Amino acid sequence: ICGIVLLGLFVGAPLQGFSQNKNIEQKVDSVIALMTLKEKIGQLVLYNGSWDVTGPPSDVGNKEKYEKLRNGEVGAMLNATSVAGTKELQKTVMENSRLKIPLLFGYDVIHGFKTIFPIPLGESASWDLEAIKKSSEIAAKEATASGINWAFGPMMDISRDARWGRVMEGAGEDPFLASKIAVARIQGFQGDDLAKENTLAACAKHFAAYGFAEGGRDYNTVSIGEYELHNTVLPPFKAAVDAGVASMMSSFNEIDGIPATGHKGLQRDILKNTWNWDGFIVSDWASIAEMIFHGYAKDRTHAADIAIHAGNDMDMEGRAYEVGLEKLVKDGKVEEKLIEDAAKRILRVKFELGLFDDPFRYSNEEREKTEIYTKEHLQIARDVAKKSIVLLKNDGNILPLKKDAKSIAVIGSLADDKDTPIGSWRGMATPNSAVSLLEGIKAAVSSSAKISHAKGVEIGVGERSFVRSLKVNRDNFDGIENAVSVAKEAEVVVLALGEEAFQSGEARSQVSIELTPPQQKLFDAVYAVNKNIVVVLMNGRPMALPNIAEKASAILETWHLGSTSGNAIADVLFGDYNPSGKLPVSFPRHGGQAPLYYNVKNTGRPVNQDGMVFWSHYTDEKNDALFPFGHGLSYTDFEYKDLKVSAPTFSAGGKLSVSVTVKNTGKVKGKEVVQLYLRDLIGSLTRPVKELKGFQLIELGPQESKTVTFTIDEKTIQFYTANKKWEAEPGDFKVFIGGSSKTELESNFSFK
Ligand code: BGC
Repeated sequence: ICGIVLLGLFVGAPLQGFSQNKNIEQKVDSVIALMTLKEKIGQLVLYNGSWDVTGPPSDVGNKEKYEKLRNGEVGAMLNATSVAGTKELQKTVMENSRLKIPLLFGYDVIHGFKTIFPIPLGESASWDLEAIKKSSEIAAKEATASGINWAFGPMMDISRDARWGRVMEGAGEDPFLASKIAVARIQGFQGDDLAKENTLAACAKHFAAYGFAEGGRDYNTVSIGEYELHNTVLPPFKAAVDAGVASMMSSFNEIDGIPATGHKGLQRDILKNTWNWDGFIVSDWASIAEMIFHGYAKDRTHAADIAIHAGNDMDMEGRAYEVGLEKLVKDGKVEEKLIEDAAKRILRVKFELGLFDDPFRYSNEEREKTEIYTKEHLQIARDVAKKSIVLLKNDGNILPLKKDAKSIAVIGSLADDKDTPIGSWRGMATPNSAVSLLEGIKAAVSSSAKISHAKGVEIGVGERSFVRSLKVNRDNFDGIENAVSVAKEAEVVVLALGEEAFQSGEARSQVSIELTPPQQKLFDAVYAVNKNIVVVLMNGRPMALPNIAEKASAILETWHLGSTSGNAIADVLFGDYNPSGKLPVSFPRHGGQAPLYYNVKNTGRPVNQDGMVFWSHYTDEKNDALFPFGHGLSYTDFEYKDLKVSAPTFSAGGKLSVSVTVKNTGKVKGKEVVQLYLRDLIGSLTRPVKELKGFQLIELGPQESKTVTFTIDEKTIQFYTANKKWEAEPGDFKVFIGGSSKTELESNFSFK
């Protein structure tokens, strides 16, 4: 009835204002009641708009999309990244379509919009949830100032395989850390109120298990057991649901024979029915139609049938819903209420964003001019960037360097590279806009210091672009001689090594995670003439660097650190900031160890007894990481002592506390991430040998001590058990505490 009345009221008039004084559910129902089947399907359609639709409607390629916009057959656009572009598209809908339902504008806001923050993997190394939240907040502020109201992030795929190019986009290998970071990022994007003009809807992606691609090859088949899926892959998504994430994106991969986009068990059963989540699921780019290539659907209509039943609400550029759904309903194969439910989920987010009150609330030219790439944002980016750096090694305390050092040779093509630090998935960054390492060093040292530079060898060759694979130089060794002569003359060498920006990211998997042969040779040649080498690594994935790890005096892992990279690295190199980052992924000894992760299970052959060959190992390399998960040094030292567990036992409804005293035993103040791990000794399923269950970032002055306390309750020890439920099983536990996953202290307790 409401719908009929409203239809009378709103024919020819926009729906804005209509939302006031009703709760969102009622408002959504009222809009749905007005909609034809075609209009409902229209809400489920997401079109790309960067290359064509932001141009004039008369352009040949645009005609069809503009017509659909005018007819109310499109619910959202992606890649329209300016106020002018988004406004033009919104206007087209508001001025022409029957119901004037505003569009969502989506964009990959992955590590900043124009002010670029460290790649997500790097930022995760800060373990600093406040700083991470802040960076997402700034990204949201810039994106919304540019017309965007929906971010395709955070990416929260757990990955244990360094070959996979998209490792750079996530928070690493650990579900606990990744869950905390996912929540921080969602809070940064969505704020406490989606209706504010500088917050936007987040999209948790990719649902699910995309990071478990076989062989680390992007888009590849995934075979993962139900228990592993629940215990390792899904926790960040559950945390996202609990944090109120507005949307999720399904993933490209299949899981045990079923493409994720057509996976009813995942989307409808777990996400919507079991977790009771009321947001909407968008497919990944054309992943509904890709079910045809998977050999799972015979055509777009069939693919649409599978996807809508499976619970996928919105079709990103797959053209399956628009082709198939109407006919499927008319033929009685799809119930209209499924489409209605999907449309409602999308409308709900549009209401929450306040778009019905003002469809142009993100079309603020003034904000676009003044709130993007500001000095303040760059300052915040530098702050997050320095916190993301991990000091992997520092022999003889070669670091920090002195600002008045006599001579520093800065070597490597990455040293004066102003583009690589921007990384992959770089939003609207201006190419070559980062502060290079060389610039950062020059700005930091005193005028008496002599800074020399040699490029050394090239890493990539030819065109660098987001849409092409980067060709890597494996056989041109030119430049080494010159580098050697520069290195010879210097007191200390800062050698930048690693990967260029476009060696990681989507569709950028590699079999080789070592330095390229020319870079290896460069290192050895420099080392032959100067032993004081500080390696500055720039890379989008964990790398296997045993030779460097052995010979370099110091190694700073700086990832791809964003717009202010060079300044942030200099902050750490010269001791203005005492490094506090810890690895969110294990760094292998050899690429052949992949997948490698700390929270492994024991086998039936776990222990290396003297000379015994029949245990689970490689005969030519150690099992463990070169630099383990959680590892990261400081310019001071921390001592751990007095691990205390408040009681030997706790029971249902109860809890206990675990405390440890941490002392800064050095001469400078520093930050430490105190990490707590548990082991559940016997379970209804085999259990990992160690799992992160708590961490605290503390700061201690020289010689200062602090007692750090963690609470353990049923939630801490729960897992997805053989009963297919999250529950705490009675039994004995070990608790470990330390400054990395190679913990220093241990104790135990039981749960009865
Ligand atoms: C990626 C997504 C991304 C989408 C839109 C896809 O290729 O897998 O992560 O959000 O493109 O750009």
